[in-house]
Amino acid sequence: MSKHWVYAFKAGQADGDASMKALLGGKGANLAEMSSLNLPVPAGFTITTEACVHYYQNNSELPAGLVDEVETNLAHLEKTTAKGFGDVANPLLVSVRSGARASMPGMMDTVLNLGLNDATVEGLTALTGDSRFALDCYRRFITMYSNVVLGVNHHSFEDILDDHKDRLGVTIDTDITAKDWERIIADYKAMVKSELGRDFPQDPKDQLWGAIRAVFGSWMNDRAKFYRKMHDIPEDWGTAVNIQSMVFGNMGNTSATGVAFTRNPSTGDSDLYGEFLLNAQGEDVVAGIRTPQALTKKAREDMGERSLSMEESLPEVFAQFKTTVDTLENHYRDVQDVEFTVEQGKLYMLQTRNAKRTSKAALKIAVDMAKEGLITPQEALMRIDPGTLDQLLHPMLDPKADKTVIAKGLPASPGAASGKIVFTAEDAVRYAAAGEDVILVRDETSPEDIKGMYAAKAIVTARGGMTSHAAVVARGMGRPCVSGAGEMQIYAERGEFASRGQTYRHGEIITLDGSTGEIMKGAIRMIEPDFSEDFHQIMAWADDYKRLDIRANAETPADARTALGFGAKGIGLCRTEHMFFDEDRITAVREMILADDEAGRRKALAKIEPMQRKDFTELFQIMDGLPVTIRLLDPPLHEFLPHTEEDIAHVAETSGIGADKLYKRTKELSETNPMLGWRGCRLGITFPEIYESQLNALFNAAVDVLEGGGDPHPEIMHPLVATQEEMAKLSALTHDVAKIVFAARGKTLAYKVGTMIELPRAALMANRLAETAEFFSFGTNDLTQTTFGISRDDSGRFLNPYIEKGIFEKDPFVSLDQDGVGALIEMAVAKGKATRPDIKLGLCGEHGGDPASIAFCHKVGLAYVSCSPYRVPVARLAAAQAAIAANSQ
Ligand code: PEP
Ligand code: MG
Repeated sequence: MSKHWVYAFKAGQADGDASMKALLGGKGANLAEMSSLNLPVPAGFTITTEACVHYYQNNSELPAGLVDEVETNLAHLEKTTAKGFGDVANPLLVSVRSGARASMPGMMDTVLNLGLNDATVEGLTALTGDSRFALDCYRRFITMYSNVVLGVNHHSFEDILDDHKDRLGVTIDTDITAKDWERIIADYKAMVKSELGRDFPQDPKDQLWGAIRAVFGSWMNDRAKFYRKMHDIPEDWGTAVNIQSMVFGNMGNTSATGVAFTRNPSTGDSDLYGEFLLNAQGEDVVAGIRTPQALTKKAREDMGERSLSMEESLPEVFAQFKTTVDTLENHYRDVQDVEFTVEQGKLYMLQTRNAKRTSKAALKIAVDMAKEGLITPQEALMRIDPGTLDQLLHPMLDPKADKTVIAKGLPASPGAASGKIVFTAEDAVRYAAAGEDVILVRDETSPEDIKGMYAAKAIVTARGGMTSHAAVVARGMGRPCVSGAGEMQIYAERGEFASRGQTYRHGEIITLDGSTGEIMKGAIRMIEPDFSEDFHQIMAWADDYKRLDIRANAETPADARTALGFGAKGIGLCRTEHMFFDEDRITAVREMILADDEAGRRKALAKIEPMQRKDFTELFQIMDGLPVTIRLLDPPLHEFLPHTEEDIAHVAETSGIGADKLYKRTKELSETNPMLGWRGCRLGITFPEIYESQLNALFNAAVDVLEGGGDPHPEIMHPLVATQEEMAKLSALTHDVAKIVFAARGKTLAYKVGTMIELPRAALMANRLAETAEFFSFGTNDLTQTTFGISRDDSGRFLNPYIEKGIFEKDPFVSLDQDGVGALIEMAVAKGKATRPDIKLGLCGEHGGDPASIAFCHKVGLAYVSCSPYRVPVARLAAAQAAIAANSQ
């Protein structure tokens, strides 16, 4: 079949299906799928994303054939609906909506009621017998079309409407009569003409092509671009355009419009969840202008609401709706987020998609669905984005802390945050850039606020429901949010809000809890999160499927315990230098560095050694039975010395070492690019007594633990090794010290000696290093900087421009450069195994907590990754996903 640009759908029949998201966009593909399932979908057709891509690649030219295809499909639509586009007696009206491959809520344009003009509005009146309704649709259409397609500011319409309301003495739109709407519409059209110098378009076909082009154009608006960047959505995907016959939720009190989730997207509870408005049109619910009602009686009662739920006010349609959404959840085997309209008692489904959910809900839903047998445990694991587990690990309010609640709204997005009050997105961006924590407080948010929402720690809105823009976007971004806090009166222009008789000003600190909806005065104490059973279940399943072990990078007992609690199977990197910065230790370390000769160094090391021995003992005890990889001293010595003249004077005074000597030695040791210089094992080679002392401490600590009935598994790791001679020397030194300690203590124990692979030469010579190294741990922080020749410390300055220009897809220090650095790793793995088939292989750079890098480690056959304690759960899940994905290929 030759390529076509338009795909049609109507209940019971569709050209497309749910698998065609890339071509039809998410909305279009799911409308087709719902139509095939014979669900009540208003008929329509979808213009493909390829047409949009063509439009951008060809100077805003429509592809050849598109106009004809749209004409043909419009004619079919007229036949299906038995209405005519532009037909004065029986007008077909359509909605024109964007719909990209990935959901981009509210970022692109939509036009409703298209096809209305001065003549068809009369037809709509005749058909419905309701001129007020017809005129209300027409004025909505003029406003929306003028704003979205013709670029007229919506405030101009609001000003006209407000003037009329003042003149008529009414406050709400529903009190405006048909006659008055006629006058308002006349004023609208006059204003459009004076702004644009031409009449509001009356020809429905002109209207349609204007709207199609506007939707294409909205793919490149600022907020869509920003949203794409934030969510890694490629610019060249384009958007589809969905053209669908209109159904009306605003045709009286047997009509309604709403949104629903088949399970609660905030908590994961399995009850149907959502909101609806009687006698309202499409965007009214999400726009947050009127506060919507609950769908079910139970939800209404739980909320202590009075206005009737849909279940109570439209019981028959509700029953049909419930069956429909159950069908959808079972069909898609995932929670659905649906939009629907009831037109005079008849249900229509306008959209379905897999629901966005909080990490807490994602866990609960995945576990529940697996237990219900709807999905397998493997699928449950694959459904959780490891990155979002981070949200669960975030602090929450200490329930015991005193708090003064100043307002309450809806718990729209969980988590707690404190910060300064700001009232505009611009302020949020500005203050956040200056390092301030801010809470964005608004009447309601709109897509223009997206940068401010991103910059803020949390968001509060006075209006809108759980599916308002603020709620949906905050949840997606992982920002805590309280919406619909109606008791707050916000005076943004004065920089203050009032609530419960008090006024709060710009810059004052508040705290909000997005899980309860409470807003509190001041900063409230936070506590570490309590993990749900669902979290433990997912972690247990992850452990069943993963092959990689997850270790932690930890040097303090507290970190080691946290890591163990998160399920780490040992320590993959203990950076011993981090143990030296305590006030009481640094002096001895400086004495060691400043010593004139070996004897002086040994004297100072003798002071440090017992402290190290104690540290190692604790780590071995905590990690009883598990490996503990201890890396000997790595950083350049000048890092331990004072830098400024003030610091030098202070150290000279407290240490008793002369300022002149201190200054001279600091100069001698400082290097311009210390990340590459006299550091790592080069210290151990040039000053063997340093490593000797560390080894003494660690072997003695291990014997101490052994004697105490413990089971220590030390792995001694040498940093920044480049040559087999270094490795052989360091390995011999390690074995010599072990022998001496074991002989003195009358005990032996198993241990391993290995190296980090942090330099390209180490990777190239891995076969030789493996002659003496029993394990390799890829130090991908250093390996990345030495492979690219960029510094970990200052490359931030040009990395961002590099990422913006598309030279780097991601920061290579965050996500492993699998092509380049990855090639070195693969080579080292192969060479290491060739020499020593049972060589133990791991990775301990920051990449050990990055899901994409973890998948790579799985693929190349490493035994473990090691990451910071809080990332251990993320890594466990990512490792399971890598294993499941590899098995299903
Ligand atoms: C590395 O280089 O990847 C590493 C883990 O060591 P450090 O970050 O301490 O240099
Ligand atoms: Mg390193």
